[in-house]
Amino acid sequence: RAKTDGGNAMRFFETEMQTRITARAALENELHAAIAAQQFVLHYQSQVTGEDRVVGAEVLVRWNHPTRGLLMPGQFIDVAEDTGLIIPLGLWVLETACRQLTAWRDDPRRRHLQLSVNVSARQFREADFVDQVSRVLMQTGADPGRLKLELTESLLHEKVADAIGKMEALVALGIQFSMDDFGTGYSSLSYMTQLPLSQVKVDKFFVHNIGLDPKVESIIQAIIGLARNLELEIVAEGVETHAQREFLMRHGCDVCQGYLFGIPQPLESYERELDTKLPSSNPMVIRQ
Ligand code: C2E
Ligand code: MG
Ligand code: MG
Ligand code: MG
Repeated sequence: RAKTDGGNAMRFFETEMQTRITARAALENELHAAIAAQQFVLHYQSQVTGEDRVVGAEVLVRWNHPTRGLLMPGQFIDVAEDTGLIIPLGLWVLETACRQLTAWRDDPRRRHLQLSVNVSARQFREADFVDQVSRVLMQTGADPGRLKLELTESLLHEKVADAIGKMEALVALGIQFSMDDFGTGYSSLSYMTQLPLSQVKVDKFFVHNIGLDPKVESIIQAIIGLARNLELEIVAEGVETHAQREFLMRHGCDVCQGYLFGIPQPLESYERELDTKLPSSNPMVIRQ
């Protein structure tokens, strides 16, 4: 009897595996086609100072899937990375963001805005990554000083000297770098002094524990203290409540990003939100 049960379990397992493999293969094929069919869209989410000033936005990719609706990065970025499709997808994201920077340049209400673009480690490790980025800047005419590239600690798993070289080449063009999800990966603190970073992002895991876990609050204070001593700007992500924002600002965070100020949304509604919900985003009326 045990043998029969084992056999059933095995058949169930094989079916389950087969289903997953088929689904994954379908996703890969669809992802290939999606790039050509321009099914990706960028959503924008504001980054806001303690004085309610919008300094810019992070662009977050979504896949407008023909049958499954709007897919979030968690549903396809891993597959894009494994298959290498993150390279053309990442390039599209960068081009689209840079074209937007150029479009905003002639609008006095928006030309101060910066855009932060997520770059996956796989993309950054491409031998010609620096060339790819400089080509996009040339083709779009975007001001490199308005572009921020968000990297994660997974970048540091290998060839750190290469990474530093690429970052320095891009910093020389005027681009800034941000360390995303700081404190959740494997990075050694010693790299923090070697990488030409200008910003650190406190991960939303930490932010969500404000008011709930005093130990996590101590970690946030340590991250902010470290970043301030290294003269890095500190952005907190996943800020959902006034209490979280108040804690972060009181402890020296510079900028907050999260549902408290707005969910990531398509360009049109994002621009509308800039005009209505946060009128002080206009640099003319900043309280300094
Ligand atoms: P991330 O770069 O850390 O982005 C922050 C994530 O937090 C986004 O999830 C955003 O929608 C979400 N978020 C923002 N505010 C709040 C909040 O108040 N509460 C909560 N719970 N979440 C909030 P999203 O858009 O699903 O993106 C997930 C991850 O996918 C990103 O994490 C980033 O690592 C990756 N990703 C997104 N767009 C791109 C892209 O264009 N290229 C690459 N390589 N990765 C991307
Ligand atoms: Mg990010
Ligand atoms: Mg992040
Ligand atoms: Mg995160």
